[in-house]
Amino acid sequence: MSFITLDCPHCFKRDIQVEIVGAKHLKKPSKKQTFSLVGFCTECEEGIALNAEPNSELNSDILTHPHLNQLLSVTKTFPTFPESKYLEQLSIPDIEILLEYKSSKGEVSSRRVRVKSMEYKTKNKSVIATKLHCYCLEKKMARDFNVSRIINAYDAETGEIISDIPKYLMQ
Ligand SMILES: [Zn+2]
Repeated sequence: MSFITLDCPHCFKRDIQVEIVGAKHLKKPSKKQTFSLVGFCTECEEGIALNAEPNSELNSDILTHPHLNQLLSVTKTFPTFPESKYLEQLSIPDIEILLEYKSSKGEVSSRRVRVKSMEYKTKNKSVIATKLHCYCLEKKMARDFNVSRIINAYDAETGEIISDIPKYLMQ
């Protein structure tokens, strides 16, 4: 079995082992050799595709090498790890909630999200949330939600309606 260490773009865990199950040598017009790899996060089991370039001349079959970080440098992952600004703002420990959300076009949809951080302002000693930086579990990507367009929010486990989003997230 072959593993490469990565920051998982699904569960956001750093330096996790990704089990590589497929590798393809991409023949590119550029001089650099590139490999296209597919694997699974050993923490959350989500699939990750990545591109990597060999550190030096490669002779061995990369799928039989136990620690691919010694051979390859990852140049790209799909999906991509979210921009660091989301993680630096991380003030909320991965709370999962359900949102009924109205888009700017007026379309209403339900989303299951993991809240990463919250933007807020204070007024008369009360906290008013303005934006939620989330990881959308359906679209499998980072997404921001304007709090003013949230119709309803629910606790993902109990289904209970969340009447005060900032209070709920900061408890
Ligand atoms: Zn993961």
